[in-house]
Amino acid sequence: MKTYAFERLYQDKQCWIAPAYVTVDAAGTITAVGSEAPDDGTPVEHHRGLVLPGFQNAHSHAFQYAMAGLAEFATRPDDDFWSWRTAMYDLALRVGPEQLEAIATMLYAEMVRHGYTAVAEFHYLHHDVDGRPYAEPALLSHCLMRAAARAGIHLTLVPMFYRLGGFDQPATAQQRRFLSPDTDAYLDLLAAVHKTAASFAHVTVGAGVHSLRAASRADIQFLLGEADLRGPLHLHIAEQTGEVAACEARWGQRPVAWLLDHVAVDARFHLVHATHVTEAEWRGMVKAGANAVICPSTEGNLGDGFFPIDDYHAAGGAWCIGTDSHVGLSPLEELRWLDYGRRLQRRRRNVMCPDVGADGGVEMVDRAFHGGRAAMGAAAQKGYFAVGTPFDAVLVDSDHPLLAVCEPDRLIATLIYAGDVTFIRTLFQAGTVRVENGRHREADAIRAAFSSALRALNSRGN
Ligand SMILES: [Zn+2]
Repeated sequence: MKTYAFERLYQDKQCWIAPAYVTVDAAGTITAVGSEAPDDGTPVEHHRGLVLPGFQNAHSHAFQYAMAGLAEFATRPDDDFWSWRTAMYDLALRVGPEQLEAIATMLYAEMVRHGYTAVAEFHYLHHDVDGRPYAEPALLSHCLMRAAARAGIHLTLVPMFYRLGGFDQPATAQQRRFLSPDTDAYLDLLAAVHKTAASFAHVTVGAGVHSLRAASRADIQFLLGEADLRGPLHLHIAEQTGEVAACEARWGQRPVAWLLDHVAVDARFHLVHATHVTEAEWRGMVKAGANAVICPSTEGNLGDGFFPIDDYHAAGGAWCIGTDSHVGLSPLEELRWLDYGRRLQRRRRNVMCPDVGADGGVEMVDRAFHGGRAAMGAAAQKGYFAVGTPFDAVLVDSDHPLLAVCEPDRLIATLIYAGDVTFIRTLFQAGTVRVENGRHREADAIRAAFSSALRALNSRGN
């Protein structure tokens, strides 16, 4: 047992505990949290700073980090998502297990440095470069689990079913590493991933279908229905107007409408990029209790469009953020983008405040925390630090000039709207310090392996 003492701890919407004491057991699980020091002789370690819950990154494709910043030159006058996807496929066809592990370890360490303590990895790179399964079928999942353990981040690994190349269209050769020939093969792969995960302390396994365009209607209805899969269910849903139009043309409905009508959607469903939704569709999501996973920096980078976050938020819709292709890794940036996109569209301020007097930063931190935990497959909880859960926290620099003189009610908005990674000095994952003085404790070794992997891939030049 050990107790950490902090100046101030953020326990719920506009609710600070000061001073704050958090006691953890040997596994880093919280056994007590409050404003009084334990009187049973437990050693107390004092830290300056403001404690916030760790941020939840609900959508990642780790290998794509290797191409961050490489698709920013025009290949044709009307570059869009689909030209970016060609570059991404080129990379996906070349990454080997050792390289994937090195890339993911660097990526996850960078997430941790930016304040994330959990990540949901939407994983569809399953097989060897020729499309055949590895001798160890869950090999690449295993690499991601090792990467997360090394970087110190909770991993929710979500292996994806991927069979087709478009609505009722066969897959292409370029997609061969992603494909399961049928749902039985996918269930076998899922079982192998569960078996591998059993030896990791901080890994949860989810399931899902890559997108409506990657599977048949029967496959989707089976996997997201009768198959009764364990863990959170993730899928890409309506990122591109092109896929919305194809879905309407082939299946007679828009993607979210089709899903709501044909699958028993509930709070276990995490709809990634529900970008193009009608009001009836997003209201249907709220009613079903589904969670919207929004990735503002990537969606901006890809020119996707805007999810109607302000109306959805005001209606009580569950949502959370993800970094997807990892062109942005700061949760502060994701939240700002989410808000500012809508402000620019509406030509209004404070669009994330459902009521007069509400605070946009407070609103976003709260909803992103609870929605993020749901996407990880974690149980719902009251407050941000609950007894029986791992102590996952960021320690924000209370000496920063903007925070040192600031009333408590304005601290969160100051961090969200005016902060950056330099505000985050220390990060605890399951009670263990992973970042100290703004630096990941294993930064040097992780970076050396990452650089070698990039050189071997030769995709970024030298
Ligand atoms: Zn994605």
